[in-house]
Amino acid sequence: MKAILAKYILDVNGVREDMAVLIEGNKIYDVIPKDKLKEYDVDETFGGEKYLLIPGLINAHTHVAMTKFRGIGDDLPLDKWLNEVIWPMEKEWSKEEIHKWALIGIAEAIANGSTVINDHYFFADEIAKAAQKLGIRAFVGQTMLDLVEFPIAEPEDGFRFFKRWKDRDELVKPVLAPHATDTVSLDLLKEIKEFSENEKALIHMHVSQSREEVLRVKRREGILPVEYLKKAGVLNESFIGVHGVYLSEKEVGLYAKSGATLVHCAISLAKLEGSIAPIVDLWEKGGNIALGNDCAASNNSLDMIQEMKFAAILNKVRNHDPTKASAKDVFYWATLGGAKALKIKAGLIEKGYLADLVLININKLHFLPETNILSHLVYSAKGSDIEMVFVDGELIYQLGNFTKEQIIF
Ligand SMILES: [Zn+2]
Repeated sequence: MKAILAKYILDVNGVREDMAVLIEGNKIYDVIPKDKLKEYDVDETFGGEKYLLIPGLINAHTHVAMTKFRGIGDDLPLDKWLNEVIWPMEKEWSKEEIHKWALIGIAEAIANGSTVINDHYFFADEIAKAAQKLGIRAFVGQTMLDLVEFPIAEPEDGFRFFKRWKDRDELVKPVLAPHATDTVSLDLLKEIKEFSENEKALIHMHVSQSREEVLRVKRREGILPVEYLKKAGVLNESFIGVHGVYLSEKEVGLYAKSGATLVHCAISLAKLEGSIAPIVDLWEKGGNIALGNDCAASNNSLDMIQEMKFAAILNKVRNHDPTKASAKDVFYWATLGGAKALKIKAGLIEKGYLADLVLININKLHFLPETNILSHLVYSAKGSDIEMVFVDGELIYQLGNFTKEQIIF
């Protein structure tokens, strides 16, 4: 049995002091007072007095291989960025390059506290293999689209990828990844719905990311993106939509009732669209929210600590109200919200939960005074404060080193 010690243990239920977390196999065996530790058969101990222990952060929307495009096409409007800069470069991808940049992207995500990624991209086998090498928990989807000519995103490959990876790995799980509401036809969406029902597959899809997307759906179908999803029958608990920047009030209502999750990528869309989605409206109507970094080409980091801070601050700005998107709300979105979306028992430090955990060194000036640890985590911490990352009970990262795969920069 392993034990992790920390000065503070923090999850959305609150802060605990002088406790230890016991790990057996891939799960949390118990959370006990530190002075009871000698009663257990512990063979490995981690952490200590300078640490804060939190549940691993869940990056619920990313394209890790796009790390290759970091810093290219900054400060352009989304449509121009996507059509004139990113898509032409993406048509040149090779399997080897995807694998290499996926490793770098996943490594960056882990080093900044992500224990789970939900990736949406081409050559998904390479993303999945890169995830396996580093030991992160990964949900991976092969991008599918049929309304735009894009040979590396043939719908059939998405279904085939799912079948290949269905029962292949404990940590790497396939999902279906239709691209967006303006690039996927109603027929294909209906086919995806049927497949999702038969295979219990999650669906991960961009929704209402740009004004142009909304206009294209309206022109083609005569309805709004969320109405389109509802018409296709995909809007339910297995649906993970991303962005929702231009959702109307009516769409927010439909979405909240459906049980689907909306992933908020605050930094990416503030940078690409100059806009923030109506996240707080959806949250207040009972919708599930998760957070994602999107990609290093738009973010330009894969840092979920930074993401929480931006999500809190930008939603306060959107609502002209500093009481909205509290530290507790964004911490929920980055942990339990993502776990609910992906249907995994993670996001809390409790008996029986997956041992996906992060140790943060708080022996730093920006954690003083230690008055409000949750506030410090969201508003003061930095990704670089993270020293150890555990996934499924295994230490996968420690002080710049990845324990399963050496990353050569
Ligand atoms: Zn995206």
